[in-house]
Amino acid sequence: MSDQTFLRVLCHKCHKPVSLKSGTVADENGETIHEQCYVNESEPLSENARLIELYALTAEEQDPKKLVDLVQQMNQLLSVKEERVKASMPIPLPTAKG
Ligand SMILES: [Zn+2]
Repeated sequence: MSDQTFLRVLCHKCHKPVSLKSGTVADENGETIHEQCYVNESEPLSENARLIELYALTAEEQDPKKLVDLVQQMNQLLSVKEERVKASMPIPLPTAKG
């Protein structure tokens, strides 16, 4: 007996059915998309979504080794982001003392 038909969702990118259980993310427009399709887009905007996803995964992960791996992925993303933010920041004006 299958009652999952109405739950079928198509990937916004490749238009193939996606499983809502795993390997699926919603992009910045709230469209369902395969995680792999999403990663392939590799737009700066998706970085935030990836961080949010990793953060959600760390909250649920029970395996310490996987947890470390997730944290490392987050650190890597954050360091990349940090570099980009630093590069795009205006040069701070020197603050006058006194
Ligand atoms: Zn897809």
